[in-house]
Amino acid sequence: TPPPGPEDVLSTPRRVPGACFSRARPTPLRQPRLVALSVPALALLGLEASEEVEAEAALFFSGNALLPGSEPAAHCYCGHQFGQFAGQLGDGAAMYLGEVCTTAGERWELQLKGAGPTPFSRQADGRKVLRSSIREFLCSEAMFHLGIPTTRAGACVTSESTVIRDVFYDGNPKYEKCTVVLRIAPTFIRFGSFEIFKPHDEYTGRAGPSMGRNDIRVQMLDYVISSFYPEIQAAHTCDNDNTQRNAAFFREVTRRTAQTVAEWQCVGFCHGVLNTDNMSIVGLTIDYGPFGFLDRYDPDHICNASDNAGRYTYSKQPQVCKWNLQKLAEALDPELPLVLGEAIVAEEFDSEFQRHYLQKMRKKLGLTRVEQEGDGTLVAKLLETMHLTGADFTNTFYMLSSFPADPSDSAEFLTRLTSQCASLEELRLAFRPQMDPRQLSMMLMLAQSNPQLFALMGTQANVTKELERVEHQSRLEQLSPAELQSRNMEHWESWLQEYRARLDKEKEGVEDTAAWQAERVRIMHANNPKYVLRNYIAQNAIEAAENGDFSEVRRVLKLLESPYYSDEAATEATATGPDAVARSTGEQFSYSSRPPLWAAELCVT
Ligand code: AMP
Ligand code: MG
Ligand code: MG
Repeated sequence: TPPPGPEDVLSTPRRVPGACFSRARPTPLRQPRLVALSVPALALLGLEASEEVEAEAALFFSGNALLPGSEPAAHCYCGHQFGQFAGQLGDGAAMYLGEVCTTAGERWELQLKGAGPTPFSRQADGRKVLRSSIREFLCSEAMFHLGIPTTRAGACVTSESTVIRDVFYDGNPKYEKCTVVLRIAPTFIRFGSFEIFKPHDEYTGRAGPSMGRNDIRVQMLDYVISSFYPEIQAAHTCDNDNTQRNAAFFREVTRRTAQTVAEWQCVGFCHGVLNTDNMSIVGLTIDYGPFGFLDRYDPDHICNASDNAGRYTYSKQPQVCKWNLQKLAEALDPELPLVLGEAIVAEEFDSEFQRHYLQKMRKKLGLTRVEQEGDGTLVAKLLETMHLTGADFTNTFYMLSSFPADPSDSAEFLTRLTSQCASLEELRLAFRPQMDPRQLSMMLMLAQSNPQLFALMGTQANVTKELERVEHQSRLEQLSPAELQSRNMEHWESWLQEYRARLDKEKEGVEDTAAWQAERVRIMHANNPKYVLRNYIAQNAIEAAENGDFSEVRRVLKLLESPYYSDEAATEATATGPDAVARSTGEQFSYSSRPPLWAAELCVT
């Protein structure tokens, strides 16, 4: 770490061998202005929402003034990005401010994201813009209130300073407002933090900046385990060496990671950039970028528009997290011998993921008693039915809590359930071909005449998907809305029959069926959110904020603080932002609606 010095020294891009942190300093912003605060997140720091806090938030949480005692620094980490070791990355757009220790004995690390360049910014500016900051701010808090392990966000502050991220169609640059998010977590250390010791990479030949510095790796392990896994540290204080302690630690990281990704799958959350530098060492959801929640259930959904190969597809998230744990195991060797690390991943990951996933899914279906043989299959068939019928992920689960106990009321329920499946118009939009037909036929000719060259181009997956889209589109062309509806009804009727049979088994031996039913509904309401941060909801809040109106951001934050059913919230919350009305079909949408048609064009990277 260099001594405190002029700003340029603190922000010059450089490799920092032998260091885990480098001093840094926020670069001031012009006219910082508060977008929104999260009252429950600030309460973690012992800050109560008051006029004083509101008034000073813009100053302190922009980085224009430093909190007393704060010593800003940027963290050095490496990472595997999209499957390749990328060497030194580090906090290029985030800054550690220090830690707040509460009277309750908790310790919270504070970070400013977007506070300007650091030694790890490489050629970039260390800034974040309003849209990405609002998305991170809202989603961090939304995930917390859904009950999913996550880093938190205390404040979002924008400014009159600008950066260019994109160019308009007319060729003019688009200026966007520099915005800062105050992030809060026990720690922001990642898998990639341990990859700075990597000697070299078999593909790139690149080395981590601290290669071979086992002394630092030992220190970092001691720090992480004693600070964030104190029970493990305590259980191993009398060991002769640290192998067993490190194994217990890695086993716990593996289990937490499996649980967190299981939670993502159960709520339809796609992270978008599951690189090892975006994997928390304490199992939190970290780094909200081009994330997305499933609307129409599609296991092949890719939320990150720049993920061309679909590495971070929704259905691949569990396997990708497992792969990332393998990379962490490699980075911990020899403090944790690799054979041991690999054995732990093999023993723990799949079983813990399956256990947690099924447990959560059973709650989502209101199966509260003993697990039965076919429960996993029932869940898989539900997802398959959603896929076939273009059902909305969140709304389907939510509606199941009102599945009538009396079979004679089933018909009305079936109609309601199928009415939230995608319309023909939506499906035609979703499956519209994305390649020029001439380009596609040329690719197909190439695949036939020169398979090797075709394989080299690496576009097989895209071509296969395109062919599927074309085929699906032609099937859709032949369907009428009424035919679609009756086909969907058939699919749902068949699954609901199985569900009813399963509930009947559950009911066997129950004396007070009314109490059983009430408890079932209560558990379903507590596990199936009504509101998630759908892209179009975030987009409406962003567009209003870009026009200087932060009220929609604040309203959405409030809504997402209570994502589950509650009696008081039984009247539907409706969006009132100007864009909410104008951009949808002209009618007001409710925050639990499936996305309006314009949202099909939304693209996040
Ligand atoms: P991410 O894909 O967000 O996990 O970021 C990958 C790497 O790029 C990290 O080292 C970030 O710190 C860095 N990075 C992302 N955005 C910026 C930026 N605007 N300026 C400097 N570095 C950045
Ligand atoms: Mg990151
Ligand atoms: Mg990021």
